[in-house]
Amino acid sequence: MLPDFAKESRWGAPPWTIDFRPEPRALPAQVDFAVVGGGFTGLAAAAWLRHAAPEKSVALLEMGAIGAGSSGRTGGLALAETSAGDLPGLGDVLGGFSETLRKLGVECDLTLPGAWELARRNSLPDSPISWNDSGDLRAVNEVPGGTIDPGKMVSGLARAAQGRGALILEQAQVENVSFGDPLRLAVAGKKLRAHGVLFASNAQSLELSGLADRARPMFALAAATAPLVEAQLAELGLASGKPFYTIESPYLWGRLLASGGIVFGSGLVHLDDWRKLAALDVTTGAPAESFARLERRVRGMHPGLRSVEFTHRWGGPILVAEGWRPVFRRHTGSSRALVLGAYSGHGVALSVYLGRWAAEVMLGRRELPAWDSA
Ligand SMILES: Cc1cc2nc3c(=O)[nH]c(=O)nc-3n(C[C@H](O)[C@H](O)[C@H](O)COP(=O)(O)OP(=O)(O)OC[C@H]3O[C@@H](n4cnc5c(N)ncnc54)[C@H](O)[C@@H]3O)c2cc1C
Repeated sequence: MLPDFAKESRWGAPPWTIDFRPEPRALPAQVDFAVVGGGFTGLAAAAWLRHAAPEKSVALLEMGAIGAGSSGRTGGLALAETSAGDLPGLGDVLGGFSETLRKLGVECDLTLPGAWELARRNSLPDSPISWNDSGDLRAVNEVPGGTIDPGKMVSGLARAAQGRGALILEQAQVENVSFGDPLRLAVAGKKLRAHGVLFASNAQSLELSGLADRARPMFALAAATAPLVEAQLAELGLASGKPFYTIESPYLWGRLLASGGIVFGSGLVHLDDWRKLAALDVTTGAPAESFARLERRVRGMHPGLRSVEFTHRWGGPILVAEGWRPVFRRHTGSSRALVLGAYSGHGVALSVYLGRWAAEVMLGRRELPAWDSA
């Protein structure tokens, strides 16, 4: 049995399984490209670098285990655009996301049946959802979107990266970067020289990525129920398998699991320093209170949910930057270092879509997008 680091965390156990561990390898002295962070962004970029340029050497450095940040703990809703809506030059996120997964051979139960936007007024006449949640919560709009299995997406991207020759090193924290030529990384007490670097470290190491003053870390919470039978899901209006999210407060999002369970998410813990993430424990304090509130709320939403059992409670970091826009720019320390992330809880499809884009920028084959170039 492979050790599953995500399940040992005090951030709680999500219902996903990461069934891939990279081969243990030594840190090389030099690579063409170093990628900092083994979430969706870093894994997609590393895989695409080798896919597009097999002659370039790539090392991905992950301070914990792949998926240990947001990506192994996400809800897995694949959504179009960004949390700030469409942005100049963004393009077709879901189309590019699906195509990238296909070209990399990543199987992660991607389905795009659409997603429900929910609110308490201006309901669609035929809303399948009608829940009692600070009013009559119903579908007001159907938008493009769907779901993935996050454990399979982390594992699949890592397999694609390693299978194409990228080195994936776990327990390899990047402690410092000197922005000379070449770039010099201090990695878990050793040195690595690189021609280009991608910072895909999301809500952690914000001084390293240059985002400490520009983005706020938060901790998002989610819980999953025990499996429900088809008739119960139909009664709840969820038979179509479309995920859902509210477009107003109080906020709620969710999706079905393959087992027939439902994931519900709500609640954010605000943090003034990303280092406080490490001490968060979902079984006590503010997170535990949020779970108790969420579970009471869900049980009160519909007779079909009154006695539902919750089997998983977990959380993970998200990063929110100015205007809720993703960061995708050159690092102030060097034009050969890129920073990509801060998807504000909207990064499942974007991370892969923009991770591929970042790889193409590093290879000199594409420009940065217009909305965030520095
Ligand atoms: C509970 C929850 C639910 C969510 N639900 C959704 C959803 O339904 N739909 C959606 O679109 N988005 C959702 N999100 C957001 C989405 O999961 C993230 O935007 C996405 O996973 C970010 O991927 P990433 O690779 O950029 O970051 P991460 O997955 O956080 O990866 C960053 C990695 O960098 C590593 N790292 C940091 N510092 C260093 C260092 N110095 N050296 C080496 N490694 C380092 C970390 O250990 C981490 O593994 C959710 C997030 C959470 C927490």
